[in-house]
Amino acid sequence: MAKIGFFSLFIFLTVLYSFEIKKVELTDSFEIFLYVYPFEGESYIKLGEGLLRNKDDWKKIKGLNKLPYPMKGIALKIPFDLLKGEVKAKILKEFYKNDKYEYNGIYHTCKRETLWHIALWFTGDGKNYKKLKEANNLLSYEIEENQEIFIPMELLFSELKSYLPEKPKVVVTKEMVQEQKVKEETKINDIQKEGEILEFTEDKNFAIYKLKKGEALYSAVVVRFTGIDEVQEVINLAMEIARISGIEDVTKIPANSPIKIPREYLLPKYLPLDDPKRQEWENKEKLIQETYKPVYAPELKGVYIILDAGHGGSDTGAISGGVWESTYTYDIYNRLYNLLKEKTEAEVIPLVQDRKAKFKVIERDKLPQHRSHIILTEPPEKLSDAQRGVNLRWKLSNKIYTNLINKGIEKSKIVFISIHADALHPSIRGATFYIPGANYMKAITGKEAIEGESQSKKLSKEIAKVFLNKNISLHPYEAIREKIIRYKNSWLPAVLKMNLIPTKVLIEIVNLNNAEDRKALEIKEFRKNLAEGIFEGIVSYFHKNNNKKLE
Ligand SMILES: [Zn+2]
Repeated sequence: MAKIGFFSLFIFLTVLYSFEIKKVELTDSFEIFLYVYPFEGESYIKLGEGLLRNKDDWKKIKGLNKLPYPMKGIALKIPFDLLKGEVKAKILKEFYKNDKYEYNGIYHTCKRETLWHIALWFTGDGKNYKKLKEANNLLSYEIEENQEIFIPMELLFSELKSYLPEKPKVVVTKEMVQEQKVKEETKINDIQKEGEILEFTEDKNFAIYKLKKGEALYSAVVVRFTGIDEVQEVINLAMEIARISGIEDVTKIPANSPIKIPREYLLPKYLPLDDPKRQEWENKEKLIQETYKPVYAPELKGVYIILDAGHGGSDTGAISGGVWESTYTYDIYNRLYNLLKEKTEAEVIPLVQDRKAKFKVIERDKLPQHRSHIILTEPPEKLSDAQRGVNLRWKLSNKIYTNLINKGIEKSKIVFISIHADALHPSIRGATFYIPGANYMKAITGKEAIEGESQSKKLSKEIAKVFLNKNISLHPYEAIREKIIRYKNSWLPAVLKMNLIPTKVLIEIVNLNNAEDRKALEIKEFRKNLAEGIFEGIVSYFHKNNNKKLE
C-alpha cells in the first residue's frame, strides 16, 4: 500500500471545511481515499455538505465506515470520486507536485497509474483514456512511470480548469500596445481614471460588469473588483459569482455577459459614490497624497537601507513547480545589496546572509537550492521556523532603527526593504508591493503611520515605474497594496506591521504559481533586471528630480 501524506493540504482543508484532514491514500489498486477527522459534534450530513459532490452521498460514507455517527478521533474514509470538484482539484494539484499547468492543459508526470486512471481523476470519466492516447500520439495504452502525459484543457473537469493560467497574448497590434499602456499606468495609480465602470442592480446589492472579449472571470472580475487573489478564495468567489450570475461553465462565458458581483466584496473604489466606505477611502487617499514629502539624498549619501530577504534556512517559503521562494529571493536580495554597495554612498544593513556563499552572486539560470541562511542577530542564528524568523527580523530591524535615531539620523533617510515571492491564483502575473497601511500598523500609529504609508507608497511607485520601463510585469490590478486582502479580513505582514521604520516596502517580486513568472525567475538576466529595477527605484525616490507629488 502506497501511502502518501501531504501536509500543506491538511492545513488548508482544515480551515476550509472544518474537518481535520488526516491523510490522502493511493492504494495499490489505484483508488484514492481521503481520511478526515471530524470535530466534536460533526454529523454525516454536515460532512456531505462540506466535502461531497452530491451531499446525500453521506449515506455511502456512513456505510463504508460502519460508524453510527462521526466520532472525534476516528478517521473517516472518503472515496475520491465522491468529493466536490474543488476538493478533488486541490488534491490533484498538491498530490502531483511535478505536474505543469499551462493555459492549454496539464502536463502530468505519471507515478504508476494507468491511462484510464489519469482520465478518471483529471477528467472525471475513465472512458476519456482513448482521447488521452490520441492527444499524446501514443502507440499503445501502456505508459511508464515518470512518463509525461498531456491532458488537454477541454477534457479537464471544470474546477481543475481554474488552476490553468491564462493564454499568453501572441499577436500584438498597435491598439493593444496602447491599451496595455493605459492598463499598466492604472496599475500604479489608484484613482479611477476610467470613470465609474460598474453599474448596480436596482436594489444596489450587486454590481454588474459586462465581461469583455478574452476576459476571464477569475482575473477580470474577482481579482480586479474584489482585490482577492489567493488561489482558493479566487476559485470559490468565482464559483459563487458564476452561480449568482447564472453561468454554468466559467471557461465558456460569452463576451458581454452581465456578471453580478455581491456588493460586500467590492473594493471601496468600485462602490457607488455615495457609499460611506467609498468616501472614507477617497478621504484617506487624499490624506496620503497630501502628506507626502520628497526626500533628497544625492548618491544616497546619508541614507540607511535595511535589507531583508524573506525566508531562508529550512524555511523555504512558497514552493511552486520546484522553485523555492527562499532561493530566488535571496538571489535578488544579494544582487540588490551589491548594487547599493558598489554604486551608492548608502549605508546598507543586511538582515540575513548565506553562511556559505555570503554575498557572492551565483551567475546561473536555475539556482541550486540551499539552506545555509542565517539571520544576523548577535549572535547570528540559523533560520528555520518561519514565524520565529519573521519575529527576529522585525525585532532586529527595530533595534537597528532605534540605534540610528539615537545617533541623530533623520528617520526619513531610513528605509526598510524586504524581498519575497508570492503564491497567488495562477492567472495573476507580476510583482506586488505591500506598504504599511496606516490603519493596519501596530508599531507606529496616528500621524506617523500616515506619513509612513505616504512615503512608502511613493517609494513603491518609483520602483513600480522602473519595473514598467524594464518590462517587468506588475500584478494586473492594484500592484501597490496597503494590506493583504482576504474574504473576511485584511492584515499586514508582521515584518511591516511590527516594524518601527516608517518608510518600508515588502516586494513580492513575482507570483510563483504563474508559469510565466516562474520561468522568468529561472533566468539570471531577468533577476539581474529585477534587482536593478528595485535599485533604480530607490535612487529615483531620493533624487532631486523626483516628482514632488505622490504620483
Ligand atoms: Zn514570503
